[in-house]
Amino acid sequence: MRPPHADPAATPAPTSWQVGDVRVHRVDETALPPETGAWLLPAATPDVVAEVPWLRPDFTAPDGAPLLASHTFAFEAGGLRVLVDTGIGNGKSRANPAWDHLDTDYLTRLTAAGFPPDSVDLVVLTHLHTDHVGWNTRAAGGGSWIPTFPNARYIASHTEWDHWAARAEGMEESRRQMFRDSVHPVRDAGLLDLVDVHDGPVDLAPGLRLLPTPGHTPGHVAVELRAAGGAAVITGDCVHHPVQLAHPAITSCVDTDPAQAVRTRRALLASLAGTGTLLLGTHFPPPTAGRVTADGDGFRLVPAS
Ligand SMILES: [Zn+2]
Repeated sequence: MRPPHADPAATPAPTSWQVGDVRVHRVDETALPPETGAWLLPAATPDVVAEVPWLRPDFTAPDGAPLLASHTFAFEAGGLRVLVDTGIGNGKSRANPAWDHLDTDYLTRLTAAGFPPDSVDLVVLTHLHTDHVGWNTRAAGGGSWIPTFPNARYIASHTEWDHWAARAEGMEESRRQMFRDSVHPVRDAGLLDLVDVHDGPVDLAPGLRLLPTPGHTPGHVAVELRAAGGAAVITGDCVHHPVQLAHPAITSCVDTDPAQAVRTRRALLASLAGTGTLLLGTHFPPPTAGRVTADGDGFRLVPAS
């Protein structure tokens, strides 16, 4: 049965967007249960969410919890076939039940979007969290994991690598497991490039930049795409959910530096407001993408058609 808010005449939300002369594809992995949003963004209570009418119905559960999704973005720019983040991955042992031993058709969808794994040149990791590095590798039998994208360079910020490396000794087992099965095999295959990202943007290729966006993690980067006639920014986790446009001070429970995360989010949103740059949310459920406008003390996402 159709949910009561659905308009039978409405066209389905797009799964790809034209950014100038570049087509950006969202490659779906899985929707996340409403409990994930309530856990991740504890200040985004149903009351707070209810005060932001433009979040309904797409970005909230019927009980008012913020809805999140796991997907990645793929596009061809600057002569490179690029994938931004790699989701949760299949078959991984994870503490979070929503992420444990997933079995999705993600690679089939990536291939159907025109990006078979062997064809990917560049994998950009916004940060080294479990739900962003999972498809870095796939199972190769016997408990071993091999790079899913054998012809790609995998990119992460040096700061991010150093942060986790410095904590390797005392790291909880679930995070050690993530590095063992999803990060170290890429490094051991010689495919990982660490990029110095400090105060300003770093160009990876013509039209493709890393934007330092620390706070969720110390070396977090967003990804900026500039094409002939358009521009887009992929959030990673510097914005988890559109409620953080209306309320940039809402932080996630796993931010390493919540105050810095708020400063980063405000600055990024202010830089985008009114520019026409497409904001693509790494965890925003459909419609996923939109333009940022100023709205009172905060901002608003105007979904892209
Ligand atoms: Zn995430």
